[in-house]
Amino acid sequence: MAQTFDIVIAGAGVTGCAIARQLARYDLSICVLEAANDIALGASKANGGLVHAGYDPAPGTVKAKVNARGCALYGMWSEELGFLFRRTGSIVLGFSEEDRAHLEVLEANGRANGVPDLEIIAPERIREIEPRASREATCALWCPSTGYVDPFDVAIACAENAAANGVVFMRSAPVRAIDNLIENAPLQAGGAPLSSQPVRFAIHTPRGTVRARILINAAGSGAAEISAMAGGEAFQLAWRQGNIVVLDKEPRALMPLYPVPTPVSKGVIVTGTVHDNTVITATAALRDPGDRDTYVSDVEALLAGARKLVPDLDTRRVVRSFAGGRAVIQGLNDFLISPSSTAHGLFHAAGIQSPGVASAPAVAELMESLLREAGVTLVEKPDWQPRRRAPEDFDRSTTEHQNELIESDPAWGRIVCRCETVPEAEIVAAIHRTPGAVSVEGVKRRCRAGMGRCQSGFCQSRVLEILARELDCHPEDVLLEDGGSWIVDGVLKEDR
Ligand SMILES: Cc1cc2nc3c(=O)[nH]c(=O)nc-3n(C[C@H](O)[C@H](O)[C@H](O)COP(=O)(O)OP(=O)(O)OC[C@H]3O[C@@H](n4cnc5c(N)ncnc54)[C@H](O)[C@@H]3O)c2cc1C
Repeated sequence: MAQTFDIVIAGAGVTGCAIARQLARYDLSICVLEAANDIALGASKANGGLVHAGYDPAPGTVKAKVNARGCALYGMWSEELGFLFRRTGSIVLGFSEEDRAHLEVLEANGRANGVPDLEIIAPERIREIEPRASREATCALWCPSTGYVDPFDVAIACAENAAANGVVFMRSAPVRAIDNLIENAPLQAGGAPLSSQPVRFAIHTPRGTVRARILINAAGSGAAEISAMAGGEAFQLAWRQGNIVVLDKEPRALMPLYPVPTPVSKGVIVTGTVHDNTVITATAALRDPGDRDTYVSDVEALLAGARKLVPDLDTRRVVRSFAGGRAVIQGLNDFLISPSSTAHGLFHAAGIQSPGVASAPAVAELMESLLREAGVTLVEKPDWQPRRRAPEDFDRSTTEHQNELIESDPAWGRIVCRCETVPEAEIVAAIHRTPGAVSVEGVKRRCRAGMGRCQSGFCQSRVLEILARELDCHPEDVLLEDGGSWIVDGVLKEDR
């Protein structure tokens, strides 16, 4: 018998997870269906992690509204959910009079969008804020509200908090078909609880069928198919691909430095990260859907763009390059966050091309108000937990606390990842969180084992062994990431 939920969310990227977290405080049964075997394996894992302030979306767009509001909410969300967030501010560098005119437009946009404390500044002030910024810059837009996060960490923190408040996560559960169970009648308004509304959708996945009163489409690059399957409006998604480069850690993380944006992207940005690496992000090119290749031409463009902003940047210190794709609704230069006009009970959070990370908390808030407007009564659970207990982070702990941890369990003293100082106990904890890591990369995203300079050259085999032990499977069954990415082929020499 298929299980029935008040709300099913398709897609566990940062958008779906933030919505799940927002709605988890209410007396609702909620299920998140995710095609991949982990949280945040779509665009939400492969992006720059910048919490852009919101000065570049055109005023009046949905994107402008949720970007600025999302950025403002990040302080509270990071505090409640225990993920790392630095509100450093940012500078958009201008090198000419033409650039200055562009910066003035951005400043005016930003003010219209509600971005606080924007200011055009002169070279001396640029150097005060970021001494490594190019001395060729003649002006800049200073934006104190910008910040950065580890984007997958935000999604995972939201998912864990949602799960702690009763949300069910089904991974490896791609939605393959949806039946509309009742005639397409509007939701009943007027105070009735959602559980008394009719069940509208039967949603089929290889892991079984779930039924839903309301379906939220947060499926990123799969959103057009979800809409079509549920009887929603037809739209097409383009794949605006971007390459990103990560450099080794700096003694002091760089302030996010932006160039003047292009019509389709924010241009090549250089930024520090919460772990003091430097990230150069991102190119933007329309490519085949699903293309996650890195291109020499893109990487060269990134390195050249970065050197223009930070001339002394040692671009030989690259530790990783990767690519992701922005799901852009063709013909709509905006996010689609609305109830479907053709399928009652279907709500879209689709086409969240960029900046979906910065906007996620506000997209979640907006989804809540759309549900209320549609007549859904939301009653807060008396025992809902807004706070997530962040996992232990050995590397960031004081020596005193590290010693306490080791005394409590010697596995805290067995360092597996030497670059990021991640002990065995932290990896075990990452596997047993809910939803926990089921792959080597899943471990990496949760506790950074393999994230450092050697990119798991030393620790991968140990992490694999720990995963096999904790998940009670053969090493041959352990995956690097999602389906089919086995690492070990078989036994060469049996232990005697
Ligand atoms: C190169 C690059 C750089 C970027 N930099 C930034 C930045 O610095 N700051 C910022 O704010 N934004 C940035 N973005 C944009 C940001 O990454 C996206 O806006 C955001 O991740 C979108 O999140 P999402 O949850 O909507 O989509 P996704 O993360 O793609 O999640 C959608 C999920 O739905 C799942 N799914 C798909 N089909 C189905 C199905 N049929 N059934 C079940 N599940 C399904 C997918 O597996 C996926 O997990 C960048 C994007 C790129 C590509």
